Amino acid sequence: MSSVRRLMVTMANSLALKHGLSLWCCPHSASLNQVPKSSSIAFSSFRRSFVVASSAFANENREFVIVGGGNAAGYAARTFVEHGMADGKLCIVSKEGVAPYERPALTKAYLFPLDKKPARLPGFHTCVGSGGERQTPDWYKEQGIEMLYEDPVSGLDIEKQTLMTSSGKLLKYGSLIIATGCTASRFPEKIGGNLPGVHYIRDVADADSLISSLERARKVVIVGGGYIGMEVAAAAVGWKLDTTVYLQFTLILLYSTECNCFLDIPKYPKQNLPDDAIIFPEDHLLQRLFTPSLARRYEELYQENGVNFLKGVSIKNLEAGSDGRVAAVKLENGSTIEADTIIIGIGAKPAVSPFEIVGLDTSVGGIQVDGQFRTSVPGIFAVGDVAAFPLKMYNRIARVEHVDHARRSAQHCIKALLSAQTHTYDYLPYFYSRVFEYEGSPRKVWWQFYGDNVGETVEIGNFDPKVATFWIDSGKLKGVLLESGSPEEVKLLPVLAKIQPPVDKAKLQNASSVEEALEIARASLQTEVAV
Ligand SMILES: Cc1cc2nc3c(=O)[nH]c(=O)nc-3n(C[C@H](O)[C@H](O)[C@H](O)COP(=O)(O)OP(=O)(O)OC[C@H]3O[C@@H](n4cnc5c(N)ncnc54)[C@H](O)[C@@H]3O)c2cc1C
Repeated sequence: MSSVRRLMVTMANSLALKHGLSLWCCPHSASLNQVPKSSSIAFSSFRRSFVVASSAFANENREFVIVGGGNAAGYAARTFVEHGMADGKLCIVSKEGVAPYERPALTKAYLFPLDKKPARLPGFHTCVGSGGERQTPDWYKEQGIEMLYEDPVSGLDIEKQTLMTSSGKLLKYGSLIIATGCTASRFPEKIGGNLPGVHYIRDVADADSLISSLERARKVVIVGGGYIGMEVAAAAVGWKLDTTVYLQFTLILLYSTECNCFLDIPKYPKQNLPDDAIIFPEDHLLQRLFTPSLARRYEELYQENGVNFLKGVSIKNLEAGSDGRVAAVKLENGSTIEADTIIIGIGAKPAVSPFEIVGLDTSVGGIQVDGQFRTSVPGIFAVGDVAAFPLKMYNRIARVEHVDHARRSAQHCIKALLSAQTHTYDYLPYFYSRVFEYEGSPRKVWWQFYGDNVGETVEIGNFDPKVATFWIDSGKLKGVLLESGSPEEVKLLPVLAKIQPPVDKAKLQNASSVEEALEIARASLQTEVAV
């Protein structure tokens, strides 16, 4: 290593960002770390020193390499193209066998009943979610982007600026963008986590495998009541309605992400265990965002669709039948629940390997970056789910596992790399989910949330036709969730969450409808401006 480079790596390492807590893990924690104010300026002084000028794909040199072929990679590639810096310069190395696609589709339109026009590739390649040209495999060819499929990166040498892939390829990079996302948390093998019929959903191959199980499923168990659990349960309802599949019941067993274990609360006597049930060791659905009362409304909706919930049970293990496929869930209380298809949705972990050397965050997990997605090693960046970044508006470090952040972080990072852009990423947290959207569904469900779910809450409206929850902290409106909002109403949410106007809680509580509550919130914006 040259002495200049050594000095720069030392400088960069000494400026490594402090660790913080995950937005999702502990959004209300008082111990959230402050973002070091100096990091951005210091990083920028040597930002592009190590871009090597090499573009021939015929040899081992690549000017820009993106590792990962997911949401963030797709939008990063698009930004390279927009800057005229893709052709002959950009290489994407992916573990998957297909071009980047909009991952959220996998538990939504991908799982529609087979006669309800389920989404399939190339229908949801990158940009379907945000508009713009469809980035099919041909698009990458036309843009002169080299794609290496099904060849995960297994090694990194930061001194030689090289990557090693599983097939043994050696790739020299000028700038490296790590966009490896997350991997689904799994049940350990010793409790049956790898049995045939047990599914985890992270990529299109996982979703295909699930569909082949659903086609012959009789009894489906879903473990986890977060996004994946809620979306797959809604899909399972659709399969029951419209196919000959015997989906006799859907069962959700909730796993506690706080202790990474199944909570051993109420023991259900064997004889009291309902035939069709959803089981929770946690209190309610989507605990990290929904209030108990909001979750109750969603639970009721699922129940109306034939899904039952049973709370407070621990899983001992998953058991195989005589054919070796999963056949039952064994509970700690001695009960056995029959199931031929089990979907486990208990969270995900950032896919940091083999990049640990660039600097990890120990509390939110993932790779530490600054406000322009630079790691502590010059020329190496991380974006999307895997990046632990400064969440400027709340002055804390966060890792966000949502597609909106994957897109925006990729675009911000590549713009900063290729242009004079120097401003810090300023993200407003935004989450959404959509379920029961297939044709003929009894009710489509679509909610959006902007901001921070901190402080007290005010909930307005009946679930039918819509409901809104407002989070108020120190008299200011911090976050808003709206179910089934009109486009006009939805447009208001980010404005409210960004400006955080002071609101009169009592007035909001007295609103007779969601529309009236939103008008009160809108009016508080004017007060803020007047002040
Ligand atoms: C089923 C599902 C439903 C979702 N629904 C929603 C939703 O409704 N709303 C929402 O906001 N978000 C949703 N998300 C989250 C959203 O999809 C992610 O936040 C987003 O995909 C993150 O983009 P990413 O590029 O960082 O990671 P990913 O899209 O996961 O891409 C990572 C890529 O890197 C590859 N990879 C990993 N390691 C290596 C390696 N060593 N070498 C090469 N390649 C590697 C992976 O195979 C993958 O292709 C959902 C996620 C899933 C799994």
